[in-house]
Amino acid sequence: MKTIVLIMNVLIMVPVQNVTAQTLKTELKKITASVYAYTEVPEGTPGNKYSANSGIVIGNDAVLVVDTLTSAEEAKGFAAEIRKITDKPTRYVVNTHYHLDHALGNSFFADMGARIIGHVKCRDAILSGGEKMLGNPAAFGLPADFWVNTRSVAPDMAFERGMILDLGGITVKLIHTGFASHSAGSIIVHIPSEDVLFAGDILFTDFHPYIGEADLSGWENNLDFIHEMNVGHIIPGHGPLSSNRNIEEMRAYLPFFDKKAKELCAQEKDLEKLTAAMLDVLPERKSGDYIVTMNLQTRYLQDKRNEQAEKK
Ligand SMILES: [Zn+2]
Repeated sequence: MKTIVLIMNVLIMVPVQNVTAQTLKTELKKITASVYAYTEVPEGTPGNKYSANSGIVIGNDAVLVVDTLTSAEEAKGFAAEIRKITDKPTRYVVNTHYHLDHALGNSFFADMGARIIGHVKCRDAILSGGEKMLGNPAAFGLPADFWVNTRSVAPDMAFERGMILDLGGITVKLIHTGFASHSAGSIIVHIPSEDVLFAGDILFTDFHPYIGEADLSGWENNLDFIHEMNVGHIIPGHGPLSSNRNIEEMRAYLPFFDKKAKELCAQEKDLEKLTAAMLDVLPERKSGDYIVTMNLQTRYLQDKRNEQAEKK
């Protein structure tokens, strides 16, 4: 898939530091009686599951997993933590979107018998690009054996606009607002009785968001949609447990980034200088050097890169 190839190309160029074994540095935290989540993964390095969050919803009959982390090994650690909390079967996995830090642990849960659910565009992206990602861990700054035992497994159930799941006493709503955002198939997961929303990467809190393939105006519509829902506990794709205040911050960040990046890229093409200039004006968040650089490369310096490619 074009987008994945693009991300891979960019990641090759971005030096990633502190790549270590995939250690899970946080534990599943209780959000409400029936919802637990990783919400404070400290740093956004590949060796630390790119800081991605994930979580579970526990019903009377079944457990639903929201996002599966970056590999089968990470998913295995996640499943062991789930076992400490409940012995109910994990029947469903939902991918909020197709990116590796949210979906490449799918194979572990599929092998345990779970159905994998996602938006049709998430499914298509994994079907067309998942194997390519697995074939080249170095492109993502990962050790050669990072994806041992990991297979690319796409959702076997997919939807366009919404789906309702009954876990026994708990209803879970999967929603695509109709607007593309962080990715075309990014969805939100709402548990009304718990007043909880998993926002996936539509919300990054305290981390710079990856916007390389985003539809920014659609993303703003998604943030407005979530804001209107007025949910008490919002679990972002990256960062700590959040609220509408963080939705507002993200809503302000996106157009500001876009405006500044366009202004600066019109005058300067040196990536390092551009990143530094952007970090000077952006609000302070984690993973800036890495993500801001990637955003500039994928979204704002494409013309320059194409020119360079033509010269070669
Ligand atoms: Zn992510």
